[in-house]
Amino acid sequence: MKNKENRPGDVAPSSSSGQTLRQRAEEITRGKAVQSPENLEAMSPEETRQTLHDLQVHQIELEIQNEELRRAQAELETARARYFDLYDLAPVGYCTLSKPGLIQEANLTAVTLLGVARGALIKQPISRFILKEDQDIYYRHRKQLFETGAPQVCEMRMVKPDGTAFWTRVEAVTAQDANGVPVCRVVLSDITDRKQAEELIHRLASVDDLTGIFNRRVFIETAENEMSRFHRYGKPFTFIMIDLDNFKSVNDRFGHLAGDRVLKDLVHTVAKQIREVDTLGRLGGEEFGILLVETSLTDGLTTARRIQEALHHTPMKLDSGETLTVTASMGLSEVTKEDTSLDSLISRADMALYKAKDLGRDQIEVNT
Ligand code: GH3
Ligand code: MG
Ligand code: MG
Repeated sequence: MKNKENRPGDVAPSSSSGQTLRQRAEEITRGKAVQSPENLEAMSPEETRQTLHDLQVHQIELEIQNEELRRAQAELETARARYFDLYDLAPVGYCTLSKPGLIQEANLTAVTLLGVARGALIKQPISRFILKEDQDIYYRHRKQLFETGAPQVCEMRMVKPDGTAFWTRVEAVTAQDANGVPVCRVVLSDITDRKQAEELIHRLASVDDLTGIFNRRVFIETAENEMSRFHRYGKPFTFIMIDLDNFKSVNDRFGHLAGDRVLKDLVHTVAKQIREVDTLGRLGGEEFGILLVETSLTDGLTTARRIQEALHHTPMKLDSGETLTVTASMGLSEVTKEDTSLDSLISRADMALYKAKDLGRDQIEVNT
């Protein structure tokens, strides 16, 4: 398939090239000491016949050479067209960039990826097509490429003029243009599908199937990060451990499925009482944890009371039509300088929770 657009290196055929060649040949002939008409008259018939013969052979030789040149040129044209078809239709985008990052050449796939006509793409800085947040990645790799000459590979988000962002794997090597000027050859591969699959896998591995909130593993990781932040910057945080009261009897009375539904509704109710920056996770069974960032024990206690109130005032509707109000016991602990690991913080909250259960359930206890 031939592309109608002009391609790099296309040259317009010159209509005067034949005449120019003839004129040049005449000039060269005039400059050389070839047989002048006077010399021809002095030639013998035998010499004239020989000269004529030589000229005819010469002419045939030239015609053969001409034919070979024409064939070679046609072959070159075919090879060039094939090369451009392969270049244009390759499953990846190819671009040549100048050292400062201006697009000099782009194949059809790159043109389609970037969502701009080829003509409008040339001389544009490639950075215009890179998401602002990922431009650092591009500049860092470009610097390294020209400084070290080592091929560079990176992944970043690019963006079309209509604002659609897509994930791209970028492979870049240095090269030289026809004048020996350093350029950069870039291969662009759209990896959006792979990235989305990875994100989905990551999300599925991070959330609890039933409630959709963070699972124990991610909750603990988040708490460990908060612990580091506290030790580095002194940002306090409070941990609330929640265990539903007499939940076994909810299952026994209404069935396990109804119990599941209650757990989901409970998460909804609790989540409404905390801030975006806080983290709610399911630690297991009907046990939940909350990380209240930059929050003292006193403020944490206020939040816990709000959650308690919300549970009291939010009867949960079961599929059977019955309504049910669940209560929870809560244990709170605030991070201290003595907490070298999460274990001590968790075990203090656990002890407080145990005390809340002991005091008759639907209670909030703190452990300082
Ligand atoms: P307590 O007030 O002492 O906490 O009493 P409890 O009945 O809540 O006792 P415990 O916390 O020891 O038991 C938790 C119960 O929660 C046991 C189990 O049947 C139920 N449970 C745990 N995970 C799930 C779940 O995913 N779905 C349902 N429906 N029930 C669960
Ligand atoms: Mg319980
Ligand atoms: Mg429990």
